[in-house]
Amino acid sequence: ARAAAQERYAVFNESMHNQALARLQLETDLRQAIRRGEFRLVYQPIVDLAADRVAGWEVLVRWRHPVRGMVSPLEFIGVAEDTGLIVPLGRWVLHEGCRQLAEWMAADPDGGPRFITVNVSARQFLDVQLVDEVERAMRDHGLRPGSLKLELTESTVMGDPAAAAGLLGRLRGLGIPIYLDDFGTGYSSLAYLHQLPLDGLKIDRSFVQRSGEMAVVQTIVALARSLGVVVVAEGIEEPAQLEALRAMGCEYGQGYLFAKPLEPEAVAATLRVPVPV
Ligand code: C2E
Ligand code: CA
Ligand code: CA
Ligand code: CA
Repeated sequence: ARAAAQERYAVFNESMHNQALARLQLETDLRQAIRRGEFRLVYQPIVDLAADRVAGWEVLVRWRHPVRGMVSPLEFIGVAEDTGLIVPLGRWVLHEGCRQLAEWMAADPDGGPRFITVNVSARQFLDVQLVDEVERAMRDHGLRPGSLKLELTESTVMGDPAAAAGLLGRLRGLGIPIYLDDFGTGYSSLAYLHQLPLDGLKIDRSFVQRSGEMAVVQTIVALARSLGVVVVAEGIEEPAQLEALRAMGCEYGQGYLFAKPLEPEAVAATLRVPVPV
């Protein structure tokens, strides 16, 4: 029995050791990837459900690993957060997204994208340079107020709602609207929700995709209306989901039914080429 226990302990230990090694390797790779510029951005349309038109694009990061190929952000954002590498990576995402939007707006001033949304993780939100960085990105690329929006998760904001309110207020002062991401999955204090300068709630796809959860969606739509903010439904895959959301008066939607996240070339192909004068 003793030997068996020892063996089990050894196996457990070895797998923990392997996990730690894999994580360390990932961290080393991430550092290198930032230096080597191995990241790319893809863009998923945010659709105005009543007008049936693309209103803006969510920016999502991709890692083209030289050996492993495309690595999902679900695999590396967590490690990037824990190690602080999300700060330089997030700065790159912000600037590259703004640069790309400015290029698209110049190519199609009337019909082109109106805004991008950029995801900001908890660690970035704590970075004292965030507000300056955002201001610089807007200025460097000549973006108008409202054309860059930030997505923050409920847990990022609700960790310290009083501090968050101050920071969100400064961002709003710069003309940066804020969407609360993955809404419904965390704990939101209703009292604080009313005090936060928010512009939208993004309903997590887990609610949109389970037909039994449509009452939750309806409640969030009503809540958003009472707060005076817009609602974006994530993860729309089925026509029936779209119809239900439209019937509830949900303003915006995203999901594979419309489009998966697209390479910039695919987005550019949707723009009208300006008529030369
Ligand atoms: P998120 O912000 O909630 O982004 C939505 C995720 O759902 C994206 O996954 C998107 O590709 C996926 N998605 C969109 N429509 C559908 C659908 O109809 N069905 C399904 N099953 N999935 C859909 P992705 O790109 O893998 O990103 C995962 C998460 O990684 C994001 O979740 C976000 O939390 C984080 N992330 C991605 N890019 C960035 C970034 O630049 N900065 C930060 N801080 N986090 C990022
Ligand atoms: Ca998001
Ligand atoms: Ca989300
Ligand atoms: Ca999510």
